[in-house]
Amino acid sequence: MKEERVKAEVMCPFCGTYTILKIKNHRKSVSCPGCREQLYLKKTHGKDFYFRASEAFGMRNITREFEKLFEENSK
Ligand SMILES: [Zn+2]
Repeated sequence: MKEERVKAEVMCPFCGTYTILKIKNHRKSVSCPGCREQLYLKKTHGKDFYFRASEAFGMRNITREFEKLFEENSK
C-alpha cells in the first residue's frame, strides 16, 4: 500500500512555532518540532495544506472523555 505524504501547517498553541511539515495522511496527531507537544491534526479543505495543527491533542482527548461521561450519566 502506498503511503501518501501531505503538507500540514503547524501553528503551535504552546510555543508559537509556525512551520510546514510533510507527514503521512493517515496520522491523527503530530508533535511540535519546537516543544514536542502533541498537536491534533485537523483536516482543512484548502488546497495548500491537507492538515492544520493548531490545537493540543491531549485537550481534545480530555474533551471526548468528558462527553463520554456525560452520555453515560444521562442514560
Ligand atoms: Zn510547540
